[in-house]
Amino acid sequence: MAEQLVADLREKCDTPVSLLRDVAAAMADEMCAGLEKEGGSRVKMLLSYVDKLPTGREDGLFYGLDLGGTNFRVLKVQLGGNDKHVISRESREVAIPPHLMSGSSSELFAFIASELAKFVTDEEKGTSLSNGKKLELGFTFSFPVRQRSVASGTLVKWTKAFSIEDAVGKDVVAELQTAMQKQGLDMHVAALINDAVGTLAGARYYDEDVVAGVIFGTGTNAAYVEKANAIPKWEGELPNSGEMVINMEWGNFYWRHLPVTEYDEALDNESLNPGEQIYEKLTSGMYLGEIVRRVLLKLSLQSAIFGEIDHTKLKTHFHLRTPHISAMHHDETPDLKIVAEKLEETLGIAGTSLETRKMVVEICDIVARRAARLAAAGLAGILKKLGRDGSVDKRRSVIAIDGGLFEHYAKFSKCLETTLNELLGEESLKFIIVKHADDGSGIGAALIAASQSQYR
Ligand code: ADP
Ligand code: MG
Repeated sequence: MAEQLVADLREKCDTPVSLLRDVAAAMADEMCAGLEKEGGSRVKMLLSYVDKLPTGREDGLFYGLDLGGTNFRVLKVQLGGNDKHVISRESREVAIPPHLMSGSSSELFAFIASELAKFVTDEEKGTSLSNGKKLELGFTFSFPVRQRSVASGTLVKWTKAFSIEDAVGKDVVAELQTAMQKQGLDMHVAALINDAVGTLAGARYYDEDVVAGVIFGTGTNAAYVEKANAIPKWEGELPNSGEMVINMEWGNFYWRHLPVTEYDEALDNESLNPGEQIYEKLTSGMYLGEIVRRVLLKLSLQSAIFGEIDHTKLKTHFHLRTPHISAMHHDETPDLKIVAEKLEETLGIAGTSLETRKMVVEICDIVARRAARLAAAGLAGILKKLGRDGSVDKRRSVIAIDGGLFEHYAKFSKCLETTLNELLGEESLKFIIVKHADDGSGIGAALIAASQSQYR
């Protein structure tokens, strides 16, 4: 019974290379469709209005604000100019009180502005770094936003764990600016970006061959540099640079042959955003633990392998988190002691046999592997769209990846990289480079604020 359930799961989550090639092709097609016209694809391909990425020559003092998952961060960077890069940086991380994630827009922004004000007060104490100049801020806001300029944009919808109805359709920069004013904080929001654009900018600052920034954290998204004349839906004047960063919002990618199981369908139906963000629900940190929980629950209800247990915890949505499955998946003790501990502590499942613990590890492996392989197919899709998948252009191309899932779930990132090689061929290793961009999303907004202000 239990073995059969796992075998079914394995089969349904299978991602042979042929399927992944089709996923990559579908991603590339959706990219084109999304660039063609507004609403042309579920992959929105939003214009970021970032038409110049940092070069390494920016200088001055800039603040950054990063809101995307459960924490938000405020930071300050001093840029040295002329390739001296970052001279100093300070940052502070603050947890968002859960009730603010589904409250009102004004409450959320009031909280953010007050934390920012505290940070700025502490940082500016006794310094004259800003020399009376107005402080400049870059805002990383990692939800889909429709932009009209680099420093404004209306919220399209919430994703991940946020759901604040009255903010949808509002300009998030105006909301922030109003909240800052109420705090008496005199700061100019010079750029509004998301974490994928930030990762791209942060990595490009050090390496001019970076072509895309990708996030695998609580959610997932990607941004890349597109030729301005390859964006048919763009009606405005083309930028001098001839380029535009596209915020793909690829978390909403969907293709009818994606390997989706009954567990994914139930998760989606019971989520805050049913029918949406399907690719994100298969590949990102918010959901992987939850998928495994659903499999374990069915396993427990249909077989006797966990014995007589109280199902309260196992029935609680999101109770098993991705860091838990990561810890179990990486357990190298001979008797899988960590798996036993996690099952007991987190789910109240005690006294498991080694066989059962092995089965749990396999379930984690199936779910994480599918995620990593689909993630790699997405990257291959971008490279294909750019003609940089080795078929045409063999220039060095760097993809910068950030996010807690990629950073901390080693088997996920390893599998992502090997799958990408499998898809592009061994030779591609010479010119396609995947690298972990540490904290692009935080610093990226400050860097874009800086590169904008150089031209103001
Ligand atoms: P965000 O995406 O919210 O900005 P991060 O990039 O820090 O934040 O990613 C946080 C996510 O990373 C968490 O939701 C979690 O799913 C995942 N994560 C964090 N630590 C680990 C870990 N040790 N193993 C696996 N996943 C982790
Ligand atoms: Mg983040």
